[in-house]
Amino acid sequence: MPLNGLYGDTIMDHYRNPRNRDPVAAPDIEAHELNPFCGDQVTLQIKLDDAGRIVSTSSQSEGCSIIQAAASMLAQEMRGKNLEQVLELAQSFRNMMRGVDVDDQCHQNLGGLEALQVVRQYPVRIKCALLPLTALEEGIKAFHAGNCTR
Ligand code: ZN
Repeated sequence: MPLNGLYGDTIMDHYRNPRNRDPVAAPDIEAHELNPFCGDQVTLQIKLDDAGRIVSTSSQSEGCSIIQAAASMLAQEMRGKNLEQVLELAQSFRNMMRGVDVDDQCHQNLGGLEALQVVRQYPVRIKCALLPLTALEEGIKAFHAGNCTR
């Protein structure tokens, strides 16, 4: 699949040089997602500080260039945010991938993830770009559920 232009270059750069692959020690949040149709899989790990801010992240992925780039970009964009902010980021990203009109504010929030909008040209690959987000959302859900039973 030809990914040209600035955004394409960014995606290929993350694919070839994935960020934050090293596992996080004692993660507060950990989630794994698999897409059985193409074999893509991703594991996300998040460590929070006492204030609930994300201090370290890890994303390990296998599969196509899109899942690997998306996982790498997400791991990078999450750092320094709190869980509420990352869920907002996830929602903005999902809207962008679905072609919902997003205002400039949302685009700013997306940071590096904005590059993945080129994947919209390949509808079957959109799922690949969204898989790390699903992992993120499931991980946060499980985290909150765990906190409630404490
Ligand atoms: Zn894929």
